[in-house]
Amino acid sequence: MATVRPRRSPTLRRCPRCKTVGRLYRSHARNAFERFMKMFSPTLALYRCHQCNWRGYMFRRFKSQSRFAFWMTLLGIVLGSILGVGIGWFLLLRFVEVVLGR
Ligand SMILES: [Zn+2]
Repeated sequence: MATVRPRRSPTLRRCPRCKTVGRLYRSHARNAFERFMKMFSPTLALYRCHQCNWRGYMFRRFKSQSRFAFWMTLLGIVLGSILGVGIGWFLLLRFVEVVLGR
C-alpha cells in the first residue's frame, strides 16, 4: 500500500486565465528550460491550473502578477547572468594575459 501524503494543497491564488481561485497547484519541471528556471524558484514558481489546464510562472511573494513584471524580472535575470558571465570572462582573459605576458 502506497502512503499518500496530503501534500498537494492548492494555493489560494487566482488563475490568470480562467480566474478560478484555489485550483492552482505547483507544477513539476518538464524540460530543460523549466529545470533552469528552478534556479529562480525563490522568486518564480511554476503553477498549473486544474480547472483550465493553464500552466505558467507566477511570482511567489508578490500579489501583483502582471506579465510585464514577470518578463522584466526574467530580462533582469538573463541580463544579470550575461553581465556576470561577461565580467567573469573579462577578468579571466585579463588574468591569462597577465600570466602569459611575462
Ligand atoms: Zn485556470
